[in-house]
Amino acid sequence: MRARAWAWVTLALLIALSVEARDPGAARSPNLVLVTFDGVRVEEMFAGLDAAVLQHVLGAKRLRLEDSDVYRRFWAPTREERRRRLMPFLWGTLLAGHGWIAGDRENGSHVRLVNAHRLSYPGYSELLTGHAHDDVIVDNARVRSPYPSVLERIQRELHLTRHEVAVFASWDTIGLVAESRPGSLFVNAGPAAYDHPDPVVRRLSEMQFDTPTPWEHVRPDAYTFEFAMAHLRAHHPRVLYIALDETDDLAHDGRYEAVLEALHRYDRWLERLWTTLQTDSFYRGHTSLVITVDHGRGHDPTGWRAHGRGIDGSEDVWVAVVDPTDARRGSQGAGRVHTHRQLAPTLARLMGAARSAQDGGGEAEEDEETETVGGESQEHARSVGGVSSAPM
Ligand SMILES: [Zn+2]
Repeated sequence: MRARAWAWVTLALLIALSVEARDPGAARSPNLVLVTFDGVRVEEMFAGLDAAVLQHVLGAKRLRLEDSDVYRRFWAPTREERRRRLMPFLWGTLLAGHGWIAGDRENGSHVRLVNAHRLSYPGYSELLTGHAHDDVIVDNARVRSPYPSVLERIQRELHLTRHEVAVFASWDTIGLVAESRPGSLFVNAGPAAYDHPDPVVRRLSEMQFDTPTPWEHVRPDAYTFEFAMAHLRAHHPRVLYIALDETDDLAHDGRYEAVLEALHRYDRWLERLWTTLQTDSFYRGHTSLVITVDHGRGHDPTGWRAHGRGIDGSEDVWVAVVDPTDARRGSQGAGRVHTHRQLAPTLARLMGAARSAQDGGGEAEEDEETETVGGESQEHARSVGGVSSAPM
């Protein structure tokens, strides 16, 4: 009798386990969250407040460093302390315990743009397609990209629904880069209504139109972030892209203190995003988080506001990767040079969309070896004249 009872218990357990394995909520399929901070320099990412830039900005207003509240809050004698004051969650928690970052030039780590224009659209296009397309993608014109993005490739290859790949952006043009075929992804970009069952979120959607920015085709980042978080909780997309903008526009306007405030705010949002991912069984333990930028900007106190062809520093970018299967932590030191176009195959690899990582998703593109950033494919990675297309 005992043996028979155990047989039933074992059978029940097996059934429970097989149901668990088929339950999509319990499946261990990978998820991906991509976050971009528009035009954030390697200087601020790796060394925090740049006193030379702040001094230059304050000097024009006949102010001293000591007069600045931002200086009092974010200044520290060492670059490690300064960056941790500016982005305490990124440096103190995320990179200390969960992921790594490349691009600290002072440490011998380089991530470079391949595209020659070093503007936003060419930068987002390189990031999302894995190619520079320098002859076609030349400026920030608000036109739809002719090239499929890696988000579209992941969606197609993994047979995801449109709603499983979601894009939230403050600058409307990013929607045109992410989605070459209108309607292929869920896109909410620029000032755009966002429908949601929660009345608070619906009210925020209305308020975005009553909250103008000084910049065209852009909504405040706070709306973009709140809509993305509401979407994450309600719809559980497998791939979520959050594109934040203010760091770039504030820099163009010469408002260095506001740039630092924005970056500090982004750090708080990263903490909220991470906490949400870790407290949701759909995401916890099998979600990658990639944080990067579309272009750098000038290195010195006169060039920091601008970027583009001929502005030294515009090609220097950075990328942070949290991959549950990758043991590396913190800021990566001297090694091979990464390029920004490695990101697209890296995102495909993180989602297990191997074909995209291998052959560019079947597109007839230049005959290039594609590798990803990081991963265990390091020995296969190449760095030819500072131009690598390997997944990281
Ligand atoms: Zn930009």
